[in-house]
Amino acid sequence: MYTLGIDIGSTTSKAVILEDGEKIIASSIVIATVGTDGVPQALEDVMRESGLTQEDIACTVSTGYGRQTYEGADYQVSELTCHALGVHHVCPAARTVIDIGGQDAKVLCLNEQGRMINFVMNDKCAAGTGRFLDVMANILKLDISELEVEAAKAKKPASISSTCTVFAESEVISQLANGTDIPDLVAGICQSVASRVASLAKRAGVNREVCMSGGVARNAGVREAMEKELGVPIVYDERAQLMGALGAALYAYNKVK
Ligand code: ADP
Repeated sequence: MYTLGIDIGSTTSKAVILEDGEKIIASSIVIATVGTDGVPQALEDVMRESGLTQEDIACTVSTGYGRQTYEGADYQVSELTCHALGVHHVCPAARTVIDIGGQDAKVLCLNEQGRMINFVMNDKCAAGTGRFLDVMANILKLDISELEVEAAKAKKPASISSTCTVFAESEVISQLANGTDIPDLVAGICQSVASRVASLAKRAGVNREVCMSGGVARNAGVREAMEKELGVPIVYDERAQLMGALGAALYAYNKVK
C-alpha cells in the first residue's frame, strides 16, 4: 500500500511516498512559500521518482502551516502530530524533538509510545528560526548550505548580542566592516539560533534522546552549538527536513490500515 504525506511549510514544500508504512520510496523538498507552485512541483517529483500515479495512492495527508491550501488531501493534520510520528519512526528512543523550520521553532516532548506529552513553540519572532539564518546568509552572500562549512572553520566564534533579527543584521554588517572573519561570524550566528531554541527546550524539558528535525537541523553548526547549550548529544537523521511529511504519510497509513 502506498500513502502520501505533504508538508506545506512557510519556506519549503515537502512530499514523501511511503510503502506499507515502512519504506520511503520517493521524497522531494521544494523551496517555495505557501500559495506558490511548491506543492505541485513536489508532487510531480515524487510521482516521477516512484513511477506511481495518483490512483495508486491509498490515502493522502497534508500537514504544515499551509496544509489547508491543498485540496487533494483526505486528512489535514497538525505539524506537531506529524513531526512526533515521523521522528518516532526513525528514532524510537527520541523523547525530546527540537524542530526548527523556516519561520518557527517547536520543542516536543514524547513518551515511549511516541505520543506528544508537552510542547513549547516560538512562532512570534524570527530569531531562533531558519529565517534568521536565511537573512544572515544573504548578508554574507553565502548559500544556506554553506553556513555549516564556514562555521566549522571558526577559530573564535563572534558574539552576536542582539536577539532581534533586525538589530542582529546591523550588528553582523558592522562586525563584517570591522574585519571579523566570516567563519567566526557564521559560528556566532549558529550559536545565536541554538541558544534561543535551547531556552525553549529547557522550558519544555530536555530528556534524552534529543533529536533535531526541520530544515535547520541540516546545519551542523547549529547542531553542535545546540549540543553545547544543552550538554547532551543531538541525534540527527539526514532526512530531518522530511519528518513532517513522513509523519503525514505514516498517519495516512495508520488511517487506512
Ligand atoms: P518550513 O517547514 O517552515 O517551510 P523547513 O523545515 O523546510 O521549514 O526549514 C527551512 C529552513 O531550513 C530554511 O529557512 C533554512 O534556514 C534551512 N535550510 C534549508 N536547507 C538547508 C541546508 N541545505 N542546510 C542548512 N539549512 C538549510
